[in-house]
Amino acid sequence: MKADIILRNGEVITVDPANQIHEAVAVKDNKILATGTNGEIDDLSDDKTQVIDLKGRSCLPGFVDAHLHLTIYGTNLLGVSCIAPHIHSLQDIFADLKEKAAATKKGEWVRAWGFNEHEIEEDRFPTREELDLVSTDHPIVIIRGCNHTSIANSKALELAGIHNQSDDPPGGLIEKDGFGRLTGKLIETAHMNLFKVAAFNKTELKEAMKLASDEFVKAGITSIHDAGGYGSGPEILSVMEEGINAGEIKVRVYAMIGSLTDSTSFIRTMVDAGIVTGTGDERFKIGPAKLFTDGSSTGPTIATREPYTSDPEDYGIQYFSQPELNTILGEAHDKGYQLTAHAQGDRAIEMVLDCIEHALAKNPRANHRHRIEHAGIASRDLQKRMNELDVVIVPNPAFMYVNGDAYLKHYGKRVEVMYPARDYIDAGIPSAFASDSPVVSCDPLLGIHAAVNRKSRSGQAVGTAQQVEILEAIRAYTYYGAYASFDEKVKGSLEAGKFADLVVLNESILSADKEKIKDIQVDMTMINGEVLYENLFAHSL
Ligand SMILES: [Zn+2]
Repeated sequence: MKADIILRNGEVITVDPANQIHEAVAVKDNKILATGTNGEIDDLSDDKTQVIDLKGRSCLPGFVDAHLHLTIYGTNLLGVSCIAPHIHSLQDIFADLKEKAAATKKGEWVRAWGFNEHEIEEDRFPTREELDLVSTDHPIVIIRGCNHTSIANSKALELAGIHNQSDDPPGGLIEKDGFGRLTGKLIETAHMNLFKVAAFNKTELKEAMKLASDEFVKAGITSIHDAGGYGSGPEILSVMEEGINAGEIKVRVYAMIGSLTDSTSFIRTMVDAGIVTGTGDERFKIGPAKLFTDGSSTGPTIATREPYTSDPEDYGIQYFSQPELNTILGEAHDKGYQLTAHAQGDRAIEMVLDCIEHALAKNPRANHRHRIEHAGIASRDLQKRMNELDVVIVPNPAFMYVNGDAYLKHYGKRVEVMYPARDYIDAGIPSAFASDSPVVSCDPLLGIHAAVNRKSRSGQAVGTAQQVEILEAIRAYTYYGAYASFDEKVKGSLEAGKFADLVVLNESILSADKEKIKDIQVDMTMINGEVLYENLFAHSL
């Protein structure tokens, strides 16, 4: 059998069980035909074979991002960005919002995303009054980068039925000033609830998902595990399926059953419909049932066992009681679901482990691969239990680079066990890397950089004992992502018979300066044997 495409003369990082590095790889139809030396692979070519000279560059399995938010990433691209290079102050954001409002029909939503009060000159949140100056004809909302807090103008609050007398919803806060007036700031469930009225329509969602998928492919991501968005889960799922069938969403999708607004009813609907984890095909598959158990690591609103280093009164926010968690996820487990939960603080992680233990005690299941998303403060006693319960962990290495300085402030010495990739590898706990984008950039090379260096953006060491080798980080961003969705037999490494999902970098990652891994670019992305992205500035493709 002859190859359709061969990539030769490079550094082919197979991520096979022996961690072999080869010179070349051959692709036939949508599968890997073989890997080997240039000579061995050249033998598989004929005059119809397309030959790509890697010129020493790395070729890797396509990246699997085991936790990001497809719809939020995409809908952000439709709104005002608070992290655009020209944004330095609140005034800059207001100017962009005004421009957006002028181009938006009265009564329709104007949204901004990626806000971080510490990244702008004023070092504070905007006020409701300031947003009312932008427009009173449009509901306006500015969403914090963590997606756990937002600021709304009066029109938006009015549409959401929130007024000065409104009580805080369970697990949330509607902020009021000293006179009992709304400041516009909505935290946790109060923020999530706003999106019941601020939801995007179907046309916007479709466009958003297409834009997001294109960005992921550019970043070398070939599979994503979607961690949910705002709005009605089943509805978003069907838009997603349409987008995949229409070829607009090009990455493979493993869709978690969870949403930022109402995971409980989403899971209920799916369980009642008899649809479980694994339903679907290699392009689009139903993933685990997912709940939120605590807040954001930078909010900071995560549920901790010890108070925050930055505030001795603060232990964070918890979304569910233990019995509630056990009931909702326990039922999903009984119905055959893989389980997962967003758990950042050690108290939240402990709750999820208790929940998994409870579900398995009642109804044992081998190879369940129940997961924990993030597992921010993964103390050693918790790691031991993760191991005993065979839990798959989905940490976010890039958080240590982007948020490392804030983590030192809020959690102090606890940074040493945050997203502890070294510990996981040494203990044999499967851990699949993920960006949680759009919380931070979706660039897998930033994640690999952060896992290898464990330094914050400002250069501070943040738990350097957790550094991993480049090959280990690549495995966590490819093979273990496939493992976390039960797909390691068909993807996640470059081995004969697996899907031809691969990525070519613009240099050799194994000989790169470790401190510069994040500057490495993607030159080419192939999914299912098809080249879907090529960097036009790369010479030799
Ligand atoms: Zn997330």
